[in-house]
Amino acid sequence: MTQRKRIAVIAGDGIGKEVIPQALKVVEAAGAAVEFTEFDWGADRYLADKTTAPPDGFSNLARDYDAILVGALGDPRVPSNIHAKEILLGMRFKMDLYANVRPVRLMDAALCPLKDVEPKDVDFVVIRENTEGVYGDVGGVFKQGTADEVAIQEDINTRKGVERIIRYAFEYCAHHKKLDGSPRQRVLMCDKSNAMTHAGGLWQRVFKEVAAEYPKIETQHMYVDALCMQMVRDPRPFDVIVTNNMFGDIVTDLAAGLQGGLGMAASGNLHPGKTSMFEPVHGSAPPIAGKNIANPFGAILTAAMMLAHLGMAAESAKIEAGVLEAVRQKKITADIGGTMGTWEAGDWLAERIARR
Ligand code: ATP
Repeated sequence: MTQRKRIAVIAGDGIGKEVIPQALKVVEAAGAAVEFTEFDWGADRYLADKTTAPPDGFSNLARDYDAILVGALGDPRVPSNIHAKEILLGMRFKMDLYANVRPVRLMDAALCPLKDVEPKDVDFVVIRENTEGVYGDVGGVFKQGTADEVAIQEDINTRKGVERIIRYAFEYCAHHKKLDGSPRQRVLMCDKSNAMTHAGGLWQRVFKEVAAEYPKIETQHMYVDALCMQMVRDPRPFDVIVTNNMFGDIVTDLAAGLQGGLGMAASGNLHPGKTSMFEPVHGSAPPIAGKNIANPFGAILTAAMMLAHLGMAAESAKIEAGVLEAVRQKKITADIGGTMGTWEAGDWLAERIARR
């Protein structure tokens, strides 16, 4: 009998609590050999007992589970969202999930704000460094509250961190195909090395060194500002993009816009060989939480990505095909032009997939 994969589920806050039940339902409908264990980490628990994640929480996740599925964390009742920061950044940093992988694919031309763009024109992936950069909270303030206040936010770039994310991008390019079945061919590094010369210089040198090991893969470089402009002028040439933590954060929200908005975007936080974490690109979206209007497809496509990562390619493909059918038949939520509620869209999809 197939060994069921153990999935830790953290629905979290806001719309996370609405989209994750849809993802679980759809994964079950696809017949994936998984078992879910739900965790109550999130704002409610934090407000009740001040726990963000239990002291041994991250080591338990790494030891006892094959993957983690997260909805979203963030709640206006928690000052500075300390719980979200500790849980999400805790997972990324303490479990060393260094590669944030965000596929950008357009399911239907109607979802893209650009004119004359077809689904085949938007099929790229952004690989974002996930453990360094400006997210390490290194820095400080001096003379706070005075007219002479100084704030310093350090940008951490280590040789090890830069090399492993660039190598991950080349490996990804070498082993993944585009949706039309053609091989991926090009890795583009995005930075701001004209202004951030020290960090950018390290990225530039390492990129050239690692690229030399992959002579069949084309390479390209763009400054982040030029890349943003190119992405909305013509997204066709993009294939695999590798970049640092902050540029990756910004560029992937822009890229999500090309595929129908935050409600359609999936992501994985990976470390090959270790327990990895999968979460939709969107946050907890407090203004729309609890209204049954959140688009569940980002979370559902995230779950499909998780299944593919766990070796369940057929179940993953079944889910992606189901989402494509839902989009084409307009069984979708209002953010992408439909009339269905979160639960109705999830039910329709689960039922469709179960029948396939
Ligand atoms: P964070 O800072 O964690 O990213 P946020 O509230 O600033 O959280 P999001 O939660 O990503 O940002 O959402 C911003 C807005 O995008 C929401 O208020 C909502 O209008 C829209 N949005 C995000 N996710 C979805 C979704 N799944 N379905 C529909 N609309 C969404």
